[in-house]
Amino acid sequence: MSGGDRPGTGHRTDGGVASEIDRIAELAKRRGFFIQTASVYGGVGGFYTYGPQGTPLKDSITDSWRDLFVTRQGNMEVDAPTVMPEAVFDASGHLDTFDDMILECPGCDGSHRADHLVEDNTDIDEAESLPPAEVGEIIADNDIVCPTCGVALAGEPVEEFNLMFETNIGPGTASPGYLRPETAQGIFVDFPQLAEYARNQLPFGVAQVGRAYRNEISPRKALVRVREFSQAELEQFIDPETDEPPLDRVADVTLPLYAARQQEADDGGVKSLTVQEAVDSGVIESDWIAFYLGLARDWYESIGVDMDRFRYRQHLPGELSHYAADCWDAETEIGGDWVEVTGFAYRGSYDLDKHADHSGESFSVFKQYDEPVTVERPTVDPDMSELGPAFGGVAADIADALAERAGRDPDAFAGETVTVVVDDERYDVPVEHTGFAVEEVTESGEHVTPHVVEPSFGLGRLVYTVLVHAYREDQVDGDDRQYLSVPPAVAPTTVGVFPLMDRDGLDEYAREVAGQLRSAGLSVTYDEAGAIGRRYRRQDEVGTPFCVTIDYDTLEADTVTVRERDSTDQRRVPTAELAETLGLLRDGDLLFDEL
Ligand code: AMP
Repeated sequence: MSGGDRPGTGHRTDGGVASEIDRIAELAKRRGFFIQTASVYGGVGGFYTYGPQGTPLKDSITDSWRDLFVTRQGNMEVDAPTVMPEAVFDASGHLDTFDDMILECPGCDGSHRADHLVEDNTDIDEAESLPPAEVGEIIADNDIVCPTCGVALAGEPVEEFNLMFETNIGPGTASPGYLRPETAQGIFVDFPQLAEYARNQLPFGVAQVGRAYRNEISPRKALVRVREFSQAELEQFIDPETDEPPLDRVADVTLPLYAARQQEADDGGVKSLTVQEAVDSGVIESDWIAFYLGLARDWYESIGVDMDRFRYRQHLPGELSHYAADCWDAETEIGGDWVEVTGFAYRGSYDLDKHADHSGESFSVFKQYDEPVTVERPTVDPDMSELGPAFGGVAADIADALAERAGRDPDAFAGETVTVVVDDERYDVPVEHTGFAVEEVTESGEHVTPHVVEPSFGLGRLVYTVLVHAYREDQVDGDDRQYLSVPPAVAPTTVGVFPLMDRDGLDEYAREVAGQLRSAGLSVTYDEAGAIGRRYRRQDEVGTPFCVTIDYDTLEADTVTVRERDSTDQRRVPTAELAETLGLLRDGDLLFDEL
């Protein structure tokens, strides 16, 4: 057994903003969390490869997301293609409006996000919500220069740049396609079929985990702004009139809320309110958004987000996406900046209405009433033998307009004539030729276009947050130590297994133990090389929460030493109980101090 391995205070590193980010970048590369893709060819901005440590970290965050947001909520999950035909993004509005503001430097030809130039050089926080012309004026008024070459940018045009990657589906250019900029559209386009699978019973949720692509103007801050990233999205379909979330399950969760009106107030700041208080006071308008903010708050904590570096920020009115009626972002503090890790958007029926309009298909669900109801239904049955000669080519459109008017405004048919508008022209139609009548009909239900509440998580930003927030430095036995204090459930490896020496049967025993632990479903690293202290340090750096050492006492008594990462405390555990004990420790069902 290794001797004393005592830590210092284990505090978060305070070595300054730049150093925190630099140290994570260095650790990420050296130990294989993430690396720049294809760096042998100079690399290309905004693309990263997750390495042997980063991949399991991302996977365990994804698994835990799926467990909470899909399995435990009884939602469905789908897996749509990442390439979609143009019609999808024409309908969704991404072709027209999924733009960022670009400014090209006349000195070095570099491209910059114009709104970021403003945010980096003035007190303005959300320049994205300003019109491009105003952003251009602010750049001129503040004498902002190119951050790369220092040339003055005043007077340079600020333009819209669409962030979608375009491609061609099949040979030739007849069938343009786009890499999806969010996973959500893959759910919306197939809503009619998905509603069938849900047996047309609202509310229901459909989740998707997968890649999304945005041709960011200036990728930055490692995994924070990249051009290919993973999202975990949930589309919750609801009847806005009747469906309520199970708010009582999260009513007491306390949320750090930075509401729009606090952001606009001179002395505004984050306010802590329970979910129930936030709903009752109207700070969060939608109960469904409040429900998901509550559910997600504890989840962020469970994966290792530091709750002292976390807040929910409401979008300012001008900042809302083209589809969103209300939106709150979960933000984490990284290197002194607040970074959006999740958007919680109330999308209304925007997406389903658009796809219904563009495809001509029905994107509603039929809701059966408990009892059939009898209602008065205004109808028309235009006399085309009169309308045809009177209105010629527009007669059919006039008939449609009459039907629409009858449903919307039956009182208009009370007089001698009724007026309808077709292609901006007004037509007066004698009511006697419209066949207007009010019928009594019995209806068994109604068609409802669901509203959508969407939590959209960026997995890469969460991985990065967890790395930054978990990073610690201390001293053990007079030596500097770096370690990642990630929760055992998300750590890339759960346990390191070491023989004290690679001889005398210790190594065979240790390999046997490693095999047993792997068979029990634990993620294990076996290491017999070098001094035991070094082996501990290597596992500490990648966040392995427990290390098991096989020593000479093991051969006598069939017990091993289990060492806990953060405290470096050690306990002896019978080998026969090891797998079960480590499983309980990983899942948080047993605390190390209780051993
Ligand atoms: P949005 O649709 O813009 O609200 O994005 C949803 C989530 O995707 C965000 O909260 C981020 O976590 C993530 N995300 C968006 N853009 C990027 C990007 N360029 N790089 C990494 N993650 C991103």
